[in-house]
Amino acid sequence: MHVAVLGCGQLARMMALAGLPMGMTFSFLSENNEDTAPVTGLGPITAMDDSLSSRELYDTLGKPDVVTVEREQCSLVPLTRLAEHCAVHPNPHAIYRCQNREREKQLLIACEVPHTPFVRVASAADLHKAVVELGFPLVVKHTEQGYDGKAQWRLYNDEDVESFVAKANFELQSDQAAPYVAEPFMDFEREVSFIGVRSASGEVRFYPATENVHKSGVLLHSVAPAPQLSSELIAAGQAGLKAILEHLDYVGVMAMECFVTPDQLWVNELAPRVHNSGHWTMHCGVASQFENHMRAIAGWPLGSTHLQGAAAMLNLLGVELDQTRQLEDNVALDWYNKSVRPGRKLGHLVLTDDSAASALARLQPLKQKVYGTD
Ligand code: AMP
Repeated sequence: MHVAVLGCGQLARMMALAGLPMGMTFSFLSENNEDTAPVTGLGPITAMDDSLSSRELYDTLGKPDVVTVEREQCSLVPLTRLAEHCAVHPNPHAIYRCQNREREKQLLIACEVPHTPFVRVASAADLHKAVVELGFPLVVKHTEQGYDGKAQWRLYNDEDVESFVAKANFELQSDQAAPYVAEPFMDFEREVSFIGVRSASGEVRFYPATENVHKSGVLLHSVAPAPQLSSELIAAGQAGLKAILEHLDYVGVMAMECFVTPDQLWVNELAPRVHNSGHWTMHCGVASQFENHMRAIAGWPLGSTHLQGAAAMLNLLGVELDQTRQLEDNVALDWYNKSVRPGRKLGHLVLTDDSAASALARLQPLKQKVYGTD
């Protein structure tokens, strides 16, 4: 089973590291001069070249049986070209729906999944309408640019609105999608994510819901199972994600990030791929999200998503590799082979314990040891 992955970052690396022991081989397609260090040594790397015909691209990638992606912000052109010769999972249409925030919200509406309210913003008049409908503070997000909290603006008053309008580019995005969406600032208690996997035969499995803590829009740590999340909210989240997977005829892993208010989940974002909030699945006795994604896209049976005990994950953001400080009993380290830059996701630690409470109690000193502060 030969798999080609579009993208050469840490998610591609971890997918390959999960697939290699099951007998898979890999090749990688890089875009826009991206850093390929995370996948170096795991299979041949080809740079995207628009002049290649679909057959040439397929041959250059070593005639893959299946193609997958590590990110949704990618060109769909190579995927649709490759789909003429082999399977592409998730299917390009699913990626298309999730790569623009307005289209993603339309998908949530079609699947009747509760989501953060929004107003489409393609003009100054639309933004003024959003102020009237949603009130201040407003969170304005570019529909196609940015991840990890980038390309987002918080507007607190009319002055902020005017200065945003002065610098905004209201040009429509692909297929007439708006360049921005405006959301109310959600007064949530916490953030959780649901990670599900759908096999080629339509079987759907979920990992336990995960609680996530972000710092400046970037995931810092996760714990699973999400402490004290009611069975009603878990059932609602799983039903919503299942509806989306089925609506898209999706094969592979998908993550759904949500805000939690006392009695409701509000979907913030979907990720049609393996996700940072699922990295804890790597070292705690379940088939990891990476392994299950590979099994699903290969058409193989899924592995267990049932967690005994609990796990926590701490991202290594902008810190040097230091195994002596970072490793301890029941803590595993995954390093992505990238060069160190401030704030960059360079690796993560996974800690396992008997309960979410004890995992969280150990996460705190580990965080202090890694970052030197709270
Ligand atoms: P996103 O890029 O949409 O995943 O946003 C990154 C992070 O910014 C989220 O995980 C939240 O912590 C925060 N955030 C995004 N949208 C909102 C919102 N409407 N209200 C409050 N916080 C938000």
